[in-house]
Amino acid sequence: MRTTTSKSSGLNPDEVESGLTCYCGLRSPILTAKTRKNAGRRFYGCAKFDGPSCCNFFMWADPKIPDGARDMIVDLLDRNQALSESSQSKRDEIDVSSLLAKMKAQKAKNRLLKEELARVKQEKIQYQLAFFLCMFCNILWVICNLKASEKFLSLP
Ligand SMILES: [Zn+2]
Repeated sequence: MRTTTSKSSGLNPDEVESGLTCYCGLRSPILTAKTRKNAGRRFYGCAKFDGPSCCNFFMWADPKIPDGARDMIVDLLDRNQALSESSQSKRDEIDVSSLLAKMKAQKAKNRLLKEELARVKQEKIQYQLAFFLCMFCNILWVICNLKASEKFLSLP
């Protein structure tokens, strides 16, 4: 059996071209079975494997997997699937709880900022009042001075 490395023909990435040709007259790629019964067992297929004009050429490349080994492979695949699902759900849980903690921290920060803003607004009003009071006093002082100077000028 002669095999070469995979060329891109639109099939699985683990396919390898063989020396065999399918009924279409094309080089038959080696494909890997994904079914539970023959998981991992390689076979020769049609070059247009998934296409509508597939000639249905089929021949096993690997010998039959012994039942015990096949059961073990299926069991391992099931466990792998279950593990990846549970680790995904744990990851989701961690994501949610860390997001909640971040949200809580952000809310506390927001509350502090709101308090700071209210304090700054209060200060602004106080400064404005003080400014207007000063301006009022200045204007009063100027008016009084003007009147005094008028009196002083009009005396003689
Ligand atoms: Zn074919």
